[in-house]
Amino acid sequence: MPAKYIFVTGGVVSSLGKGLAAASIGCLLESRGIKVNLMKFDPYLNVDPGTMSPFQHGEVFVTDDGAETDLDLGHYERFTHARLSRDNNWTTGRIYEQIIAKERRGDYLGKTVQVIPHVTNEIKTAMKKVAQDTDVVIVEIGGTVGDIESLPFMEAIRQMRQELGREQTLFVHVTLVPFIAAAQELKTKPTQHSVKELLSIGIQPDILLCRTDRFLSKEIKSKIALFCNVAEEAVITAKDVASVYEVPLVFANENVDTLALKYLHIQAKDRDLANWEDVVHRVYNPKDTVTIGIVGKYVEYEDSYKSLKEALVHGALAHNLKLQLNWIEAEGLETGDQSYEAQLEDYDGLLVPGGFGKRGIEGMLIAIRYAREKRVPYFGICLGMQTACIEYARNVVGLEEANSSEFDPATPHRVIYKLRELRGVEELGGTMRLGAWTCKIEAGTLAHRIYGTLEISERHRHRYEFNREYEEPLTAAGLKISGATPDGTYVEMVELPDHPHFIGCQFHPEFKSKPLEPHPLFRSFIGAAYEHGLKRKAQKETAEVEMFHRPERVAHR
Ligand code: GLN
Repeated sequence: MPAKYIFVTGGVVSSLGKGLAAASIGCLLESRGIKVNLMKFDPYLNVDPGTMSPFQHGEVFVTDDGAETDLDLGHYERFTHARLSRDNNWTTGRIYEQIIAKERRGDYLGKTVQVIPHVTNEIKTAMKKVAQDTDVVIVEIGGTVGDIESLPFMEAIRQMRQELGREQTLFVHVTLVPFIAAAQELKTKPTQHSVKELLSIGIQPDILLCRTDRFLSKEIKSKIALFCNVAEEAVITAKDVASVYEVPLVFANENVDTLALKYLHIQAKDRDLANWEDVVHRVYNPKDTVTIGIVGKYVEYEDSYKSLKEALVHGALAHNLKLQLNWIEAEGLETGDQSYEAQLEDYDGLLVPGGFGKRGIEGMLIAIRYAREKRVPYFGICLGMQTACIEYARNVVGLEEANSSEFDPATPHRVIYKLRELRGVEELGGTMRLGAWTCKIEAGTLAHRIYGTLEISERHRHRYEFNREYEEPLTAAGLKISGATPDGTYVEMVELPDHPHFIGCQFHPEFKSKPLEPHPLFRSFIGAAYEHGLKRKAQKETAEVEMFHRPERVAHR
């Protein structure tokens, strides 16, 4: 049977959670035995988000095949079993890149190349490509209805309905129903206008997911249904929730999946959301808290480390813990004296995440030294592994000027240097070492205990590597290289055997963590951090009791 399509658009304002809505619909359909795939179109002109600042765009999510994609693909992978690749995320820039290449080759045989049909055809071809071996493709259109730049995508999905018919296509529109405090009322007008805008480009939505902070009454629902020309049952309360993992359950309560299946004429088994319910139960019923400090270039900005945050949550869930996450601005640790300790002492575990550029590096090194010497569990990801090696070279081996050539091209000790395969490559777009690569793990190491296997595959996104010329002095001083590429070229993991939990990896494990399958590195880090925290608290209590019983204290009273 050919695949059917669910198109997800958004209206009124951005940031309504279209990506999470698409992912949650995918999750629900999977729970009914439907095979889903998900894709996103981003209407901007960049070829991919790889060269965009994460502070503009949010995290760059990396797929197995090394595509640098929109962070919504991270939601799709965390909520479903869909296996995503560069075919699952298209920008306007990439669509045009293809068309212009074809035009230059002469493929259009002298025709005038136009938005309709050439751009819309390219968009439809991209949709059909991911529809193979799938029951339902969920297609998210980035941006907000009414944007000039999303028009070709809107036109393409309109044509898909025209081409394939009602039973093959479904339009889901995510909209806002705000509560206006002055009137003490939920307002439907923005939704009415948004649907009107959609209608003006020929799209009549079938289901409205109404983002709101409270339940929509029957009256409100029927008013929206009447004005927007949808069935009352298809006006859905998409109420705000404290955990994103609750969204599928909220949608299930409102029967979003049942409606979608009905409209698409698909027979499916009953839902089975037991695993998902268990995750949500654990989210809201933690036995205790674990406190993690992330030391980064800037304090976190919105979604710039989305997958990392989620992976830490998954790690905490695996131990029935609530994650307390604090961002520590690395530069703020460069105090010139010991006063930075006050900023670091209250954490159960410290983490330096991926990053680019020189800013804050010295502060990261201070935090890593602190974790190493005070035996605080440390987890270094990509840049966090590189800085861990630099810190070791400087403070244990005594190579005071050790650095990465990324931060100091003239350093005499390039412990980290440009990837050998990238020497001479100046172009920035898509030129890093990207995507899934195999890593061989050294038997008997912490990495081995964590993964329980000697061969893993993890996703990468980096331009610099550990310089093997420094392997001898660093390992002689106690650093362990516990993972490398199968041919031994690249160092992938390092650790400190005489530390309770000090590990660094060149790859980004956060991209593969899911709530139902917490990544072993995050599970292990959180476990170690929690244990450290318990010890730390116990020591603090003992110290307080001792203080109290000191004779001079008693004498003063
Ligand atoms: N800037 C470092 C590199 O390019 C680390 C990259 C990262 O952390 N993703 O290798």
